[in-house]
Amino acid sequence: MSEIARRIAFYRQALPPEVRLLCVSKYHPIEAIEEAYQAGERCFGESRVKELLLKHEALPKDIEWHFIGHLQTNKIRPLLPFVSLVEGVDSWHLLEALNEEASLINRPIKCLLEVKIAQESTKYGFTLNELETFLQQGEWQKLDFVQIVGLMGMATQTDNKAQIRKEFEGLHEVFERFRTTYFLPAGRTDFTVLSMGMTEDYDQAVLSGSTMVRIGSGIFGEKEEQ
Ligand SMILES: *Cc1c(COP(=O)(O)O)cnc(C)c1O
Repeated sequence: MSEIARRIAFYRQALPPEVRLLCVSKYHPIEAIEEAYQAGERCFGESRVKELLLKHEALPKDIEWHFIGHLQTNKIRPLLPFVSLVEGVDSWHLLEALNEEASLINRPIKCLLEVKIAQESTKYGFTLNELETFLQQGEWQKLDFVQIVGLMGMATQTDNKAQIRKEFEGLHEVFERFRTTYFLPAGRTDFTVLSMGMTEDYDQAVLSGSTMVRIGSGIFGEKEEQ
């Protein structure tokens, strides 16, 4: 068994069956993704448009690609014909642009709203207040081609497990509250995805109600490039 297959087997053991594993393959070569594919994985995450396009071109077409990086509106177009989920939507502007581009090719696009839960000021995402206002206003319901299927968040990079846990629990709480307050009443039963947890903190995320963990270095080893 290859090292990558061995690591994937570890996560399959460690994760409850209802938690999805997204293999974050950014900065890792095609061959590494092929190994994970051979081991049965079909769900991969990339954070750069150019890199994702090259990999999509080179690899089997039954791969489900998630875009997990910060997406600029002028780079959306080539992604929309094939990307399964845009995980880091962090502005109304981006959501509108995604809707517009998706309508041009008549293919709906699923996305997650990114929520700022970490203390670091560098992280992208909506603040909770921004998101609440945005959901209350209801304009999002007019976007016919974007399906908001959940939330995504990143905890503070710290060794303090209690803090990480608190941030994830907080995100889980707003996920549940938004689901019952805004999405279910609007008939949006597909608001079901809570993407949180990476290599260093996936265990805390799972305990806090994550439905999808995004594992990079834990599967593919340390990044080759930043
Ligand atoms: C890189 C990245 C990951 C994976 O991080 P690891 O620590 O390598 O598991 C997860 N989510 C996002 C948004 C990322 O950019």
